[in-house]
Amino acid sequence: MEHGCFQIPNLIFFFRVDFERGPKKHSLGSSQNDGFFAKWGNMTQLQLFNTMGRKLMPFVPLVEGSVGLYCCGLTVYNFAHVGNLRAYIFEDVLRRTLEYSGFQVNHVMNVTDVGHLSDDADSGEDKMLKAAVEAGKTPWEIAEFYTKAFFTDLDSLNVLMPTTVCKATDHIPDMIALIQRIEANGFTYFSGGNLYFDISKFPEYGRLALLSLDDLKAGSRIEVDKNKKNPHDFVLWFTQSKFEHQAMLWDSPWGRGYPGWHIECSAMSMKYLGEQFDIHCGGIDHIPVHHTNEIAQAEAATGKKWVNYWLHNEFLLFGTEKMSKSLGNFVTLTTLGEKGYAPLDYRFFCLGASYRSQLKLSDEGLQAAKNGRAALSEKIILLKEDAGGAEGNAKSAPAASFLASFEEHIALDLNTPQALGDLWGLLRDEKVPAADRLAAAYEMDRVFGLGLKETEREKVDLDDEVIALVEEREAARKAKNFARADEIRKILEDRGIVLEDTPQGVRWRKK
Ligand code: AMP
Ligand code: ZN
Repeated sequence: MEHGCFQIPNLIFFFRVDFERGPKKHSLGSSQNDGFFAKWGNMTQLQLFNTMGRKLMPFVPLVEGSVGLYCCGLTVYNFAHVGNLRAYIFEDVLRRTLEYSGFQVNHVMNVTDVGHLSDDADSGEDKMLKAAVEAGKTPWEIAEFYTKAFFTDLDSLNVLMPTTVCKATDHIPDMIALIQRIEANGFTYFSGGNLYFDISKFPEYGRLALLSLDDLKAGSRIEVDKNKKNPHDFVLWFTQSKFEHQAMLWDSPWGRGYPGWHIECSAMSMKYLGEQFDIHCGGIDHIPVHHTNEIAQAEAATGKKWVNYWLHNEFLLFGTEKMSKSLGNFVTLTTLGEKGYAPLDYRFFCLGASYRSQLKLSDEGLQAAKNGRAALSEKIILLKEDAGGAEGNAKSAPAASFLASFEEHIALDLNTPQALGDLWGLLRDEKVPAADRLAAAYEMDRVFGLGLKETEREKVDLDDEVIALVEEREAARKAKNFARADEIRKILEDRGIVLEDTPQGVRWRKK
């Protein structure tokens, strides 16, 4: 459905029209690799759980073969915590699944480097300024530092770089232009020095969060701002700063000031993806306020339905609570590294749960993920050695059946836990030639993003003494002196080196 609005003086009417465009169906794997997956035809229709409507829906893009995907980025006044990173891992798996399916994905992500309104309500502290004062730096320096750190984290997690990354501070004129459209359509009022969005003018307000305007009027827990007509009205442009020493200010038709937080996502997504696009993502915390307000702004400006699919990840919990910067209970990738968990162990940990389930951070869980990934790497290395560098065939009959099952699982709202089961099943199936197992595993890893193809045995620098012992053991074995051979094996094991006898000769690895 599409809805639009037209205006006659002081009156706005909404109408709805059917909003069905694009191809009828797009199948997972159907247009990949020169028809490689055509074997399965339309068997695997990608289904995504749409928060708008709260149900699984077949994915149909607006334009055949391509997808517009917008993901809310980080507010860069601190390091990303692993809860934030769960959101970006989920979005990366979504993007990879779309690409695996043959779509060309235009993936846009913002960076919130205007810090003052990073709180959902309009009452947040100026986090960027606070961080800057504490560090003796300017807000711009703080934003630049944490933006770099954020992208380093994403890279270490094998999260693909978005097609477009857009910083809020580079797009103030776009935000002003959008606010002017909203104002021209009659959705705003000016009060106490700030320009507000009047939610009573937008009857669909709260549709995403399943809140009616009546619910919102009653029992609001938002801090009352006496300038607002309704507690859920929100600021589009501030000229009255709540903060002393406001550093980030721009000229605007409403006076020198700064934008409200929500407007940046409406403005930048439409700039890079058009006034209507396919998928918008974020964590579930964004449903009731940020995304609700983004929809109100975009649709008030254009009079059209804005986004077709809303996908939200559940929280990473610390203990029983949401991990969050404001609660101070947060853990970064660096902290995990200090405990011995690599970034890809964390990615593997996240893949072990559906993105729509809560996930508790725990040492047991992380350790299990670390062990699981180590076992996976070891299996891949052994298969590589068995295959002797041969290029396998992922569509050989037994490998293909695992791949088909994987596709079914991932196409059903990104069921990564079950898809990982398919990977394990494939790797362990001795009936499938090693090279074919590898080929199919690499196909699956286009979605998992675990870097399986690059997995190599850790190089062990053997000192001369160890080399001499390995050689002595080989000689002892040839001379059938197994007692000495075992003795040497034990000596090396105590030094953390494990020997394996294979038809190709002796191999060693770190314990
Ligand atoms: P923010 O910088 O607060 O806008 O957060 C960046 C992204 O992380 C958003 O998509 C949030 O919804 C998401 N997020 C924040 N906290 C968590 C959490 N504990 N678990 C999962 N996602 C989160
Ligand atoms: Zn956003």
